[in-house]
Amino acid sequence: MYETIKGQDPSIYESMIKEAQRQSEGIELIPSENYVSQAVLEANGSILTNKYSEGYPGKRYYGGQENVDVIENLAIDRAKELFGAEHVNVQPYSGSPANTAVYFALLEFGDTIMGLKLDHGGHITHGLPIAYSGKAYNFVQYGVNPQTGRLDMDEVRKLALENKPKMIVAGYTAYPRDIDWKAFREIADEVGAIAFADISHTAGLIAGKALESPVPFFDVVMTTTHKTMRGPRGAIIMCKEKYAKDIDRAVFPGLQGGPHENAIAGKAIAFGEALKPEFKEYAMQVRKNAEYLANELMKRDFKLISDGTDTHLILADLTNKNVPGKIAQIALDRVGITLNKNTIPDDPRSPFDPSGIRLGTPAITTRGMKEPEMEKVADWIDRVISNVENESALAEIKNEVKEMCLKFPVPGIKL
Ligand SMILES: *Cc1c(COP(=O)(O)O)cnc(C)c1O
Repeated sequence: MYETIKGQDPSIYESMIKEAQRQSEGIELIPSENYVSQAVLEANGSILTNKYSEGYPGKRYYGGQENVDVIENLAIDRAKELFGAEHVNVQPYSGSPANTAVYFALLEFGDTIMGLKLDHGGHITHGLPIAYSGKAYNFVQYGVNPQTGRLDMDEVRKLALENKPKMIVAGYTAYPRDIDWKAFREIADEVGAIAFADISHTAGLIAGKALESPVPFFDVVMTTTHKTMRGPRGAIIMCKEKYAKDIDRAVFPGLQGGPHENAIAGKAIAFGEALKPEFKEYAMQVRKNAEYLANELMKRDFKLISDGTDTHLILADLTNKNVPGKIAQIALDRVGITLNKNTIPDDPRSPFDPSGIRLGTPAITTRGMKEPEMEKVADWIDRVISNVENESALAEIKNEVKEMCLKFPVPGIKL
């Protein structure tokens, strides 16, 4: 792999090859990560990166657009078909700028928005006070019920009636349960708010019909394309026709210049892959694997927020194990199991040293791992957490992990 880079720039090559090894020899449990196909990789690394194409298909500011227009229109048409969306903008560089574009398109600075608290599973772009969203808008934050770990729609409704937000954001970064989109729609209607769904984490499960879609109910829906969607890094914004002009203007020229047509080609290819029947099987298996893994962890006395999962994502509180999330993350890293430390709702510890870990099954399911492998993963996690300082135990587990992983090749990696 990467022979040209090897010859020209050995220091970059060395780290790229080590990263390819890390990806193929380890178990990737970060729920926002995935492995893209060879075709998506090729598009993303293609000559399309050479082209400037400010504007939209048919209305560009530079010449030479006859090919990128075809590609961008295909990306739009496939996204519309996949999600049943009225209008799609495929140009956002990533999820955070896409959320900024949605707010910029539909709100005035200082307007009130409702979003989920960060330490309850919301995203930094959903009103973190030190983030742009938190500074530019008046965010009112709802939470999950501390007992159940689930959204409390009565509390959401009460806060909405009190604060009369112009927009309500649903869709999260660390929430393991299905979302009642209709209930959000009803609350938004009751207070006259725009309903905005951020399905960055679950878009692939929604596209694969393994979870209910907010697209029919919500005014605007944003998703990243690189998580369960299994496309290149990037995002899209879907909306009802009446918001189309405002959304497009906010993306370009409101926030961005030239779109990354190499990434847009990758998005088009990923949407094409997601339209195939195999993707439905993938989405279902992601959920089955997560449910199985959750149950195996609970059997080993892991406390899961909401006692399980409906999605690809699991959030565990390690307090009863006497191992903080950070120590767990570091020890697991050493055996080749990658996940992230994470806050739990109302975490008594700090975000840099929280009580929990967040894990998920999108990437390992792409490699073809199923229930028998989930049992092994649960066992390894359990052994690592009980042996965070036991060098020989960790070395032994590392070998077992590598041995299993090499039986499940990663798309695009040939070592
Ligand atoms: C990942 C994520 C984003 C942001 O995506 P980036 O591409 O990392 O900027 C936004 N919202 C939610 C809910 C996410 O999970």
